[in-house]
Amino acid sequence: MTVEQPFETDIAIAGGGLAGLSAAILLARQGHSVVLLEKNEYPFHRVCGEYISEESRPFLASLGLDLPATTYPLIRQLQLSAPAGLSLLTDLQPGGFGISRYRLDDLLAQQARAAGVRLMTGLKVDAIQYRNGKQEMQAGKLRFAAKLALGCFGKRSNLDLGFKRPFAIHKPGKAGNYIAVKYHVRYDQPIDTIALHNFDQGYCGISAVENNQYCLCYLTIADNLARCGNNIPQMEATILAQNPFLRNIWQTADFGDRKPISISQVSFAPKSTLENHVLMIGDAAGLITPLCGNGMSIAMHGAKLAAGLGDSFLRGKISRSVLEAQYQRQWKQHFGRRLQAGRAIQYFFGNPRLSNWLLRAGRMSPALTRFLIKQTHGENF
Ligand SMILES: Cc1cc2nc3c(=O)[nH]c(=O)nc-3n(C[C@H](O)[C@H](O)[C@H](O)COP(=O)(O)OP(=O)(O)OC[C@H]3O[C@@H](n4cnc5c(N)ncnc54)[C@H](O)[C@@H]3O)c2cc1C
Repeated sequence: MTVEQPFETDIAIAGGGLAGLSAAILLARQGHSVVLLEKNEYPFHRVCGEYISEESRPFLASLGLDLPATTYPLIRQLQLSAPAGLSLLTDLQPGGFGISRYRLDDLLAQQARAAGVRLMTGLKVDAIQYRNGKQEMQAGKLRFAAKLALGCFGKRSNLDLGFKRPFAIHKPGKAGNYIAVKYHVRYDQPIDTIALHNFDQGYCGISAVENNQYCLCYLTIADNLARCGNNIPQMEATILAQNPFLRNIWQTADFGDRKPISISQVSFAPKSTLENHVLMIGDAAGLITPLCGNGMSIAMHGAKLAAGLGDSFLRGKISRSVLEAQYQRQWKQHFGRRLQAGRAIQYFFGNPRLSNWLLRAGRMSPALTRFLIKQTHGENF
């Protein structure tokens, strides 16, 4: 592997989150040579609410992950609260379970290595180019020539700029520029309940993961942080704490001595599922609003679709143009409506008056609440 001579592989994948690792495992098990480049080293923490919808359980089991309820708590209740404290408790069907990304991604990375994936960590992909029917992935001095490249690099990456993706090159308006913050805490909340507490221009989820820990994760507009002098504790004390449930969490939870992790420039703008012959999967193809608790399932389900079509392409059963057309169509068919529903619900949740109204309506009509939950979730895959 030198600058002169690229390393030949069937599949090259940029990004080893849930989308990249799942696609890599499936394709390697189908007998293809797979290189996956991930810029971080496993295990590592990520900003994520860490609630996985049950629809993903059979797929994770098929990848070799047995996730017992004794270790990874089952979540079957949803508590919602509006900024002034009005709240609602409802059944969550089909529900989900909690597992930290620190654990989940590491377990999948182990499965990928066992399946024969050439998993190269600490390597950042700089560019992906298409030349003479081959896709070339470059990371520093290393080059990989692949029959097929998959873009699994998440919400925002240096590669988005390379593809000149609109959401990456245009500055978002105040209403479209979000930040997110995550902690692991110890807190007194029923283990089977995920709570989603609204505050002015944001919402905060809390639910159990392994080792008696709770994942506490919120999303808000960047402007809220700017108004607090870019000081996260100040924003939590002045804006989040207006909701009495959140005030209680910040007053009574044990935050330990770990600092929060945070991300900025989160965008929910629609994205293309194909860029210069690269199939985009997971958040790189489109980010569902986190309140749906469904982004991880979409990332894995998208990986399954791409791996199925990729296998047919590599075996010569379909051409590249059919592969690309079918992938884009299937992606839209499975996830397009869910992403739209998520954006619409988030619009209500960011607004104190509208979220209060929605909660009142939900308290009066459990069928409405069930309907909204259903819009954001999918079927087993
Ligand atoms: C605040 C918040 C809360 C959320 N809560 C939930 C939840 O509770 N439940 C749920 O289902 N979903 C949730 N989501 C969504 C979920 O986290 C994502 O949908 C999911 O992680 C997508 O997986 P992915 O593989 O596409 O991306 P990621 O998991 O982000 O993986 C992308 C990977 O690509 C790597 N990468 C990027 N650029 C490069 C490069 N140039 N070279 C090499 N590697 C690169 C990154 O290091 C990363 O490891 C939440 C999202 C947010 C923002």
